[in-house]
Amino acid sequence: MARSGGDRLNRGVPTHELVIAHATLRGRDGRWQIGIDGGVIAAVEQTPLTGSTEVDAAGALVTESFVNGHMHLDKVYTLDRIGDAALTAYTSGEMGSALHSIELASAVKADYDREWIEPNARKAVLEAVRYGVRHVLAFADVDTHAQLEGVIPLLALREEFRGVVDLQVVAFPQDGLLRDPGAEQLVRDAVYLGADVVGGIPWIEHTDAEAREHVQRMCRLAAAHGRRVAMLVDDAGDPSLRTTEMLAEAMLEHGLVGKGVANHARAVGLYARPSLERLAGLVKRAGLGFVSDPHTGPLHLPVRELAAMGVPVALGQDDIEDAYYPFGRHNMNEVAFLAAHALNAVDGAGIDIVYDAVTTTAATVLGVAGHRLEVGGNADLVVHHHAALREVLSHHAAPAYVVASGRVVASSTSSTTYHLANLEQENS
Ligand SMILES: [Zn+2]
Repeated sequence: MARSGGDRLNRGVPTHELVIAHATLRGRDGRWQIGIDGGVIAAVEQTPLTGSTEVDAAGALVTESFVNGHMHLDKVYTLDRIGDAALTAYTSGEMGSALHSIELASAVKADYDREWIEPNARKAVLEAVRYGVRHVLAFADVDTHAQLEGVIPLLALREEFRGVVDLQVVAFPQDGLLRDPGAEQLVRDAVYLGADVVGGIPWIEHTDAEAREHVQRMCRLAAAHGRRVAMLVDDAGDPSLRTTEMLAEAMLEHGLVGKGVANHARAVGLYARPSLERLAGLVKRAGLGFVSDPHTGPLHLPVRELAAMGVPVALGQDDIEDAYYPFGRHNMNEVAFLAAHALNAVDGAGIDIVYDAVTTTAATVLGVAGHRLEVGGNADLVVHHHAALREVLSHHAAPAYVVASGRVVASSTSSTTYHLANLEQENS
């Protein structure tokens, strides 16, 4: 229970606005007390602290909140509107199928309307609150079918949830730029409306020259307006795709070092080792981070190999119940759990990598500063139900407490009563 006033765990004059007591921390022995003031972590100590509000972690693990590196937030809960033909095409991973899936999936945009998109997206953001997701790279299709119907509700939700779930809204030309005349102006309009990030999907253009032109135009737009870039690159089973490289080169050229995200990049999983090492060197120079979603299909980025080369890789939920993925709860702990299997990362080192990829490393990829459980870090934390990280992933339950900007914004419990002879008791 979160307690306040005279019901404090520790007696005395409160010295912090919020205290999380009896916490287990990653990589540190013993029990810890976390003092929080003004949305910032003010103390991490083993001696008792007093707070105006106190949360008892009861020995469970406390970590940084979750970060969702990639999410199509305008399309959530649309699978039932269009059927699963696109899903079959996308998950096959082949070049032609991946393109075909985008065309099938665009059927949802025949009646794209902010009136039904807004409540769907709101539901997904509330799920983010429940599961302790603090930052989301949120894509909205901006093209001649979708117009601005997807991006407008996401910009409104960004303001409504600021400080609880921060949305970085991406103006995303899902159908290409040169393939979809008119899309570029709509992306510009979305930036004028306040979109945080300029999107792109160069690999679907018809020639390499047009793909390069696509990357150039979007990077130029981002640089001119002080925005970051986030593109879907090389998202098919064809090792000749090279748009990740184009994006990194353009970031270097346009002064966008450290301001870019490469999403999907599934073809990189098929690169020969020398090509992979060459790309790793280039993306590190450009400060280009990756986001992978290995739960969405068999072909994915070589996450562990890139991490070993020092490239920051985050994980993304990608989709919730849409034409590309039929499940999803906006639970990044669940995404990490699934990734641990898909990436063969079930040993201790692997579990650390996938958990970092939904917390601290993901924050780095998205350019979020201060996402660290340390004095001076942002007070964006989750209090779990178990002490060991392996158990936390295994159960991937909603956190017992979610703290955002220094205050408790959600709490969850789960319990089971066994109706068995001689065992009529509650177990959790
Ligand atoms: Zn995606």
